[in-house]
Amino acid sequence: MTTTTAAKATTYHNFIDGAWVPSVSGDSFENRNPANTGDLLGVFQKSTPADVARAIDAARRAFELWRLVPAPRRAEILFRAAQLIADRKDALARDMTREMGKVLDETRGDVQEAIDMTFFMAGEGRRQYGQTVPSELRDKFAMSVRQPLGVCAVITPWNFPMAIPSWKIIPALVCGNTVVFKPATLTPLSALNFVRILAEAGVPPGVVNLVTGGGGEVGNALISSDDVRVVSFTGSTEVGRTVSERGAPSFKKVHLEMGGKNVIIVMDDANLDLAVDGCVWGGFGTSGQRCTAASRVVVHEKIYKTFLDRFVARVRALRIGDGSESATQMGPVVGDSQLNTVMTYVQIGQQEGARLLCGGHRLDQGIFAKGFFHEPTVFADVAPSMRIAQEEIFGPVVSVIPCRSYEEAVAIGNNVQYGLSASIYTQDVNRAFSAMRDLYTGIFYVNAPTIGAEVHLPFGGTNATGNGHREAGTAALDVFSEWKSIYVDFSGRLQRAQIDTADL
Ligand code: NAD
Repeated sequence: MTTTTAAKATTYHNFIDGAWVPSVSGDSFENRNPANTGDLLGVFQKSTPADVARAIDAARRAFELWRLVPAPRRAEILFRAAQLIADRKDALARDMTREMGKVLDETRGDVQEAIDMTFFMAGEGRRQYGQTVPSELRDKFAMSVRQPLGVCAVITPWNFPMAIPSWKIIPALVCGNTVVFKPATLTPLSALNFVRILAEAGVPPGVVNLVTGGGGEVGNALISSDDVRVVSFTGSTEVGRTVSERGAPSFKKVHLEMGGKNVIIVMDDANLDLAVDGCVWGGFGTSGQRCTAASRVVVHEKIYKTFLDRFVARVRALRIGDGSESATQMGPVVGDSQLNTVMTYVQIGQQEGARLLCGGHRLDQGIFAKGFFHEPTVFADVAPSMRIAQEEIFGPVVSVIPCRSYEEAVAIGNNVQYGLSASIYTQDVNRAFSAMRDLYTGIFYVNAPTIGAEVHLPFGGTNATGNGHREAGTAALDVFSEWKSIYVDFSGRLQRAQIDTADL
């Protein structure tokens, strides 16, 4: 890393084979604070396919050593990394808030998730359980073990800049793989902070490599390489489809975590204060930029008006501002492109005939002048077929949809292309259990909003949200390892499975 005094901006480098190196292109890009674009965090490498090739080569070579390090020893390094992240939690969170805007409480939560995941997965260094089973033949031993696959490409979004990389990199490492990590261009500093800690904890050269730059150049080069055996991608469904197609010719394992259009169902017997609390937090936490954000709220007609009154009063009272200030409850959106998307969908909602109850405007005066701020926005009387109820907006916009029955609520809930998270507020245990069964999502909550996953359970979604894999929990090990079944015949003679069936 070097500091350019003229520009007063730190230049950050790629991390390849244990060294901080500039891109071969010599090009770079800026990283600015979305709450105040006058605040330049640093300059990062705009990498090229040539940088990617170097990183893959380093990772390929390092794999031959790392795969032979006993998993409990790999884990010792990861335990050290978890402790280092914990020691620096506050500073890491402050960098993250400056980098992508969410409030400090939430960036501390993001870092905490990385700590939790790293401790949890390091524990797998002494487990990674396989099976031992009786053989159908005499004097024969049968077992299955997990084995690493090789070089893993990790491609991540900007909304959880440390948590999501940890969900991928740490299980990859504990299983014995090596990694080339391409973070989102909007959050390279948090990525670099994470990789720096891994190196400091003792991860050997080449085992984790960081290459910053655009999806088209860096991402495509990673996915297209025959030397990459796993691609773990989190991002939009649109890009995920491209990743899937490009990974297919070389039969890579492609793990996709993509968009969402999550729903909270509020039944007529719900504890209404609790439901309103959940909808405000689920809809507007991280300015609505969570994959699990509750962007749809389906409310029973019997309580519809009361719910709307209380919900809108709470949303209007949200304090918007710079996320690094303790009074702020909602920060900016991450950048101009995201802000334009939000404004476009607000227009679409109005054209579609939804009733705008609050918000609906960009904030650009006074303290907001240099940032990407948008009012928290609520639409009511939204029809389930409207675009604002079907498409992922990824911003502070919540669509409230009335319903007449539980059955109708479930049908509305399921009738989107995504399937990440859903929730129900009800006091009726029968209804709660029915909903757990009937909503076709990867994650479900009862009397809590659609956000709040914990690292030791599987995380992921159905339909256009995912392709059947899960991260987090021990399910993540299935992405980053392959099963090998091993038979040891100690009979000293030829024994034929399925054929020598007469012998007892
Ligand atoms: P994005 O799809 O634009 O980018 C994600 C990553 O892919 C970035 O690193 C980007 O540079 C890279 N990329 C872009 N084009 C690429 C290409 N052609 N080849 C390879 N890589 C490419 O998403 P984003 O805007 O960073 O994040 C927001 C999206 O992520 C939302 O849709 C959100 O729902 C989703 N998300 C999903 C989850 C989940 O677990 N399901 C979690 C967080 C975010």
